Amino acid sequence: MSQYTATAAPTGPIVADLRSDTVTQPCAQMRAAMAAAEVGDDVYGDDPCVNRLEASLAARLGKEAGLFVPSGTQSNLLAMLAHCGRGEEVISGESYHVIRYEAAGASVLGGVALQALPVADDAAVEAADVTAAIKEDDSHHPISRLLSLENTNYGKAVPLPRIEAAVAAGRKGGLSLHLDGARFFNAITALNCTEAALADPFDTVSVCLSKGLGAPIGSVLLGPADLLARARRMRKMLGGGMRQAGILAAAGLYALEHNVERLTEDHARAEALAAHLEKLGLGEVSHATNMVFLTPRAGVDLAPLAAHGIRTSTPVPSMRLVLHRDVDDKDFDKILAAFSAVT
Ligand SMILES: *Cc1c(COP(=O)(O)O)cnc(C)c1O
Repeated sequence: MSQYTATAAPTGPIVADLRSDTVTQPCAQMRAAMAAAEVGDDVYGDDPCVNRLEASLAARLGKEAGLFVPSGTQSNLLAMLAHCGRGEEVISGESYHVIRYEAAGASVLGGVALQALPVADDAAVEAADVTAAIKEDDSHHPISRLLSLENTNYGKAVPLPRIEAAVAAGRKGGLSLHLDGARFFNAITALNCTEAALADPFDTVSVCLSKGLGAPIGSVLLGPADLLARARRMRKMLGGGMRQAGILAAAGLYALEHNVERLTEDHARAEALAAHLEKLGLGEVSHATNMVFLTPRAGVDLAPLAAHGIRTSTPVPSMRLVLHRDVDDKDFDKILAAFSAVT
């Protein structure tokens, strides 16, 4: 089982779904923007909304080009395939998504080796571990090619100096750099830095529009134009070339305009939920950005959560509770009350 395994669904109406921020529904205004989107065939490069999304996000992050893709997994995969050839390797963190949750796609499809490093308590990989993992030029070894970092990781925003240390070790060893920024905007919110500041150490950055930003589908890969041209070819190969994709890009443009600043609300509610769980003494509690983790004490009965309409992941051993834009103050009070009913 993993964090993605859900507990029994509530039998009555669902008050709040805390399994993930991917469960967010497009709001009425976002749906209106989608319906009104001017579209074209994006495989021909003709879709104005897709082109606007790619260009505007590239400008915000200080990169040359962008590529709109169906999912964060495909975005990371395209980055790894564009950076690495067969027999080359990606170095990353053992709990990072590219190692643990992407079905080893780069290995399966690209003949790319995945080398996992320990991840520190603050979700960083240590510069010394990066240096030690970079292989010398010897016919026994895969060719070390790419360091792939992640921010946020399990909700934790890795501080910039920690990222820069790992990046410097990678650069020194001749590696290219990729950031899995599925929750990039949660990270810049928590770090209180600009988008360009977090993107700058990396050649390529992947961001998801379908998590806390609330778009229904889509991620964008940002980076140098020549590398993204290779990624674009592979997107087509993987079946990710979408036609009138402006319908989806319009949702992403709406999300970037309206749903970034409000992430502070999710972070504040996560902090408040963590304090409430601490006070109730239900077990071990931690929180970071929009996520709370509860490791229930032995004997704690979580059944009242479902009875109160709260949908959660299964504790394995810790339960991940994710705050997002479909939880408002009224829902939040009900979440607190549901946990108060846990014994
Ligand atoms: C969600 C996520 C992804 C990509 O997820 P998709 O479901 O494929 O969009 C990648 N990395 C991290 C850290 C994620 O949380």
